[in-house]
Amino acid sequence: MTDKLFLTQYLTLRDVAVRAERVAKTITDEALHGQRLFHPAVYGIPRGGIPAAFAVLHALREDNPAWDMTDDPEKATIFIDDIIDSGETIGRYLKKYPQAVGGYALVDKVRNPCDEGWFVFPWEAKDGKDDEGIRANITRLLQYIGDDPNREGLLETPARVEKAYREWFSGYGHEGAEVLKTFEDGAEKTDEMIVVGPISFYSHCEHHMAPFFGSVHIAYIPDGKIVGLSKFARLVEIYSRRLQVQERLTTQIAESLQEGLCPKGVAVLVKARHLCMESRGAKSIGSTTTTSKLLGAMKTSEARSEFLRLCA
Ligand code: ZN
Repeated sequence: MTDKLFLTQYLTLRDVAVRAERVAKTITDEALHGQRLFHPAVYGIPRGGIPAAFAVLHALREDNPAWDMTDDPEKATIFIDDIIDSGETIGRYLKKYPQAVGGYALVDKVRNPCDEGWFVFPWEAKDGKDDEGIRANITRLLQYIGDDPNREGLLETPARVEKAYREWFSGYGHEGAEVLKTFEDGAEKTDEMIVVGPISFYSHCEHHMAPFFGSVHIAYIPDGKIVGLSKFARLVEIYSRRLQVQERLTTQIAESLQEGLCPKGVAVLVKARHLCMESRGAKSIGSTTTTSKLLGAMKTSEARSEFLRLCA
């Protein structure tokens, strides 16, 4: 991915008005070919499409004051959204409600390839990390799964989930190099394998955001530098407290040790249970997934079998 995709554009109300005028003109010229309908209506796709529809409606009325807003998608002449990414949402509406003649958005990545990056509308929070915004999304999720976010037991849940997420995903923004302060004192005569573990870890799979958890064993053969044993647990935390796949977690731990310690060899063994596998789909209950990464001198069959023996 290029940096361009991460560009964030904060649209002002003025930007919205300009874009709404452009959309209104496209609707009049392209969708309606200049014909003036008697009861044309816009339907704003919830939620962001609703303020967008108001803006477009305002512009459409300049040309034809008969334009109105509707709550009923079956009565829509035009669907309006704030943003069209893939066109999947608007396509679904147009298929379900074939009486409508088109769907448009203030930011349309399908029709306008220039609309690249991440857009923030004036009715959205400026920072995706704001607590209110994320709590509103968790409330929405509670509704989506069929529960009532207003019942007593759930009132504080969005705030608690937000707090828990901050802890579960606190590995972002940190790198292994931060914790791997090495020292040479005491290392001069150490050339035997050092094995640490099991270190417990709790991570979340990036495919389902479901927990996967288990233990890590780390071994290395020093080459003049050693590291405090407590640092390994912190290292494992940094790479597990983010969305992961077990293979990458294993590799990242091994490679950051390789970079930070420049040892003769590194080995990492991760054993984990994946709740996405155990609780859904094929339901392979209680099964463990094992991954390993061996670097340098740890790759020899002798070192490898000693490591595996010490892990057992
Ligand atoms: Zn998964």
